[in-house]
Amino acid sequence: MSQLSEVDIRNVVSEVLAQLQSSGGTVSAPTIKSRPGRHGVFEDAATAAKAARGGFEQLKKKGWAGRAKVIEIVKQMCSDNAERWGKIEFEETKIGRLDHKIGKLYGIKNVLGTEYLTPYGMSGDAGITMEESAPWGVIGSITPVTHSVPTIAGNIVNMVAAGNAIVVNPHPGGAACAAIAIHEFNEAIKAELGIENLICTIEKPSLDSFNELCASPDVNLLCITGGPAVVDAAMKTGKRAICAGPGNPPVVVDDCSALDFDKVAKDIIFGGGFDNNLLCIGEKQIIAVGDSYKLTLDALKRQGAVLLTKQQTEAIKKEVFDIKDGGGGCSHAVLNRAYVGADASKLAAIAGLKVDPKTEMLITETDPDDLFVVEEQMMPLLPIVRAGCFPDAVRIAKESEHGYKHSAMVHTMNVKNMTIMGQAMDTTLFVKNGPCTAGLGMGGEGYISFSIATTTGEGITTPRTFTRFRRCTLVDNLNII
Ligand code: NAD
Repeated sequence: MSQLSEVDIRNVVSEVLAQLQSSGGTVSAPTIKSRPGRHGVFEDAATAAKAARGGFEQLKKKGWAGRAKVIEIVKQMCSDNAERWGKIEFEETKIGRLDHKIGKLYGIKNVLGTEYLTPYGMSGDAGITMEESAPWGVIGSITPVTHSVPTIAGNIVNMVAAGNAIVVNPHPGGAACAAIAIHEFNEAIKAELGIENLICTIEKPSLDSFNELCASPDVNLLCITGGPAVVDAAMKTGKRAICAGPGNPPVVVDDCSALDFDKVAKDIIFGGGFDNNLLCIGEKQIIAVGDSYKLTLDALKRQGAVLLTKQQTEAIKKEVFDIKDGGGGCSHAVLNRAYVGADASKLAAIAGLKVDPKTEMLITETDPDDLFVVEEQMMPLLPIVRAGCFPDAVRIAKESEHGYKHSAMVHTMNVKNMTIMGQAMDTTLFVKNGPCTAGLGMGGEGYISFSIATTTGEGITTPRTFTRFRRCTLVDNLNII
């Protein structure tokens, strides 16, 4: 399988930046116009689900070759349209980084397809038995604003490989770019295979369309990619749901003189700064042990991160979190969405600090109970916390992850400590000595998916995640041996 390495991503990013510069640095996207009523774009969920049911029946008739062709089309279109669709998504959502939005679309080529579905056969004195991965039918896919088109495209590859059709209820903030890509996918699929409405979407998604989709008898399975509220809502529908829920990944830096701290800093800035920290797997808080605290801090500064003062941090905190009264003397913090995925320079400006617009990361020294540590804040502002010893660092890391069992990273040359942390965290992704992205095949071995089913335990989704296991038995000694 071809790998999209960190170097590949950096090359794609520099190519895109060069193109942008040659076009006068503009990022203007084509006008966003969704086209309801055809090519998969519908006004309501029930009609979309019914149309997708028709798409499923048409796909069935095309066999494995039909599934493989759809995947080829989707992967090719993501590469061919990466720049245009990336711009459209960036212009609509106004979060993250354009170069990384484009990079994510190039990454779709590494999503697993039909090759991952191999049957399991048993042959013996009593006959032959085959176990096969069968489709569910129509899958309702709920997608986040943080990666609208990439999540949809990745879901399509996995789900169609497994023989399913899809109805998407995208985040309202990323619904237009979703409609454009889905319209274009359907046009191409129809032209090549004659299948209509294999992938459907709701033009103006809402909580009502979510409820309608979950209640539709045409929808057999749900796949949820989002935060805690949508995961809770989906689990209450009574329909089977595969839930790729929230995370708050810590990165621990061990007190280890053998570490290359500039490499550690580069990894943290790359992973935590990717798309301005919108990745659910992205490093969200650094916990450094003993002497590694100063070594990490100094290396982060050398690698371009800007250290905030306590006063600057507090000024930013006041703006990016709203403290709500929860009643009974309790309060809780709510993220100000205007700053999710914002540039580091925009966050710094809140505190009156002017930094180079190319700054990828702000850092701040905090306690373990700071809001920037405990909240999944999705901003390129990483808190760094001091730990006295490795077990203490693991305890802080585990508390900050809130039992989401999502992702965690460690930098250490001490193999025993790797094992201690891996076992303690019990996360779906655990990356040692690399950026978080290495856990999804970008700079590490493996495949990518934009839906990591943490809450319900299926893990990084693959075509197999979206299948029903079926057994077929032929009773007799008909085997050839
Ligand atoms: P979000 O939870 O605000 O929205 C996700 C989707 O759920 C959207 O389509 C939204 O419209 C819908 N939604 C939200 N609340 C709902 C409710 N009460 N009922 C029905 N639908 C509801 O999240 P977001 O800001 O779009 O994305 C960021 C979140 O998603 C983070 O928590 C991140 O960790 C998580 N995420 C997880 C993965 C993963 O693979 N595990 C991948 C990407 C993002």
